[in-house]
Amino acid sequence: MAIYNIHAGHNFKVGGSSGYFSETTESRNVKNAVISKLQSLDYKVYDCTDDSGKTQNENLKNIVSKCNDHTADLNISIHFNASNGQGHGVEVLQYSNKTKTAAQNICNAIAELGFKNRGVKDRTDLYVLKHTKAPAILIECCFCDSAIDAGLYNYDSMAAAIVKGLTG
Ligand SMILES: [Zn+2]
Repeated sequence: MAIYNIHAGHNFKVGGSSGYFSETTESRNVKNAVISKLQSLDYKVYDCTDDSGKTQNENLKNIVSKCNDHTADLNISIHFNASNGQGHGVEVLQYSNKTKTAAQNICNAIAELGFKNRGVKDRTDLYVLKHTKAPAILIECCFCDSAIDAGLYNYDSMAAAIVKGLTG
């Protein structure tokens, strides 16, 4: 069975985006629910969330170091997007096409909850995607500053969609 590294983005010392809700808080709620759902399906999961880094760089380095402490098949980073209040929907960022199937399945499963499907995007510039040993994806679950997305969002259904996308 696949082994997963999962982490929530940002931390309370650095802070992520906010709007109708806090990215830092909700990425942790989603991450915790994903971990317990995967564990109940007997998957091995490591929580690589960093709550101690005092700068964005420290936070990212700590996450990568935790990810690379384990042998895993996939690193999963949980984030929420923000823009000017007009953006909405889910997107999954990947470093390479090695993760295309998982990324696309997760994106589609979240879109089935009613979120706009913004698709899978290649990003070779993101620190965590670039520096983890195992392939990595970053899920921008939805927009925390969108009224539409905030109305659809629930951490438990979001986590269930991620698990469904990962495991089928
Ligand atoms: Zn983020």
